[in-house]
Amino acid sequence: MMQKNTMGDLIYFTSPQLSEQKELKHLFTSRLGGVSKGHLSSLNLGFSLGDNRENVIKNYEKICLALKVPLSSVVPSKQVHGDAVYVVCKEDAGVFPPDPERPGCDSLITQEKGITLAGFYADCSVALFYDAKQKAIGVAHSGWRGTALSIYKKTVLAMHANFNTNPRDILVSFAPSIGPCCFETDSDVPEALYYALTQKINPFIKKVGQKWRIDLVGINRMILQDAGILGEHIVDSGHCTGCEPEFFWSHRKTGGQRGVSAAFISMQ
Ligand SMILES: [Zn+2]
Repeated sequence: MMQKNTMGDLIYFTSPQLSEQKELKHLFTSRLGGVSKGHLSSLNLGFSLGDNRENVIKNYEKICLALKVPLSSVVPSKQVHGDAVYVVCKEDAGVFPPDPERPGCDSLITQEKGITLAGFYADCSVALFYDAKQKAIGVAHSGWRGTALSIYKKTVLAMHANFNTNPRDILVSFAPSIGPCCFETDSDVPEALYYALTQKINPFIKKVGQKWRIDLVGINRMILQDAGILGEHIVDSGHCTGCEPEFFWSHRKTGGQRGVSAAFISMQ
């Protein structure tokens, strides 16, 4: 479960297992405490959702103040519902919106200190990764497409390949995402998930009338444990973006008229 924090009108969340790590700074934003207007009111962190750049930058500045990191340290991910993992370097930081030359990528990892990774959610699953032994961090975005591609497992493999990370040392904290209570789909989504992940996902898919309900976090927790992460190192947010539209952006509940939240992580 996450902890709720406030700073003025800003409301954000933190994960107790990551808060305990002295060299880490992290937080998960809500939709509250920013300066964006209209259907993007108020804490929108996306540059491609019709907001003006100054408002989005002001929103980032408020978050950076809460995190106590400079804006110039932030590397926003460029999410494309794929399975590529990108090793972030210093040159990627502080470019808003991100450099069009940087490849689209749903997972960012780094061992660089003083860099702040940001991954975005408005129903999709996003997870923060931390390896205290090899001193490495990551953030990855896993909607149902990324889940079918096992993007979280590929993040663990990339941390192992690049940083010699042992999965047993990784802590994972989930951002708020859409729960099985609200994630209702047609048959295409369960079909794609079954095709990629086999019958193992049975406990996380329910047929209700002519629709299906998907437990995205449950499936991703299984994928992480298959990748060698210990169950007790995986912490759920305890929130559903669909059930709490007053706190969180939900793509589904707003019909796409929405801003976007972000999970931030930085190693000092
Ligand atoms: Zn819900």
